[in-house]
Amino acid sequence: MRDLKRLPKAHLHLHLEGSARPATIVELAARAGISYEVPTTFRNFKEFEAAYVEMVDFIREPDDIVRICRELIADETAQGVRYTQPTFPGLLRRPVRHQRGRGVRPHA
Ligand SMILES: [Zn+2]
Repeated sequence: MRDLKRLPKAHLHLHLEGSARPATIVELAARAGISYEVPTTFRNFKEFEAAYVEMVDFIREPDDIVRICRELIADETAQGVRYTQPTFPGLLRRPVRHQRGRGVRPHA
């Protein structure tokens, strides 16, 4: 049987924010003085989306994005991915969310 990790792959639909390592998100939250546990199960899509929006709020600095990109490249490389097309819709939507006052507050 062939080793799947050795096969070349393309990742054509990837949300950059969602690809962040859980440990990285926990660390970014801690930097903001927030104790945060990355959820791993959801009862429905709405619950998942709320958690996603909450998590994106911890990505605040340009260096955070650079870090997530570097970790993504390392993780994708380890899986044999040779081409990836990350998008970042959560980061692009954030200013609009804040203007409308609909941002989700992190856990205290
Ligand atoms: Zn998508």
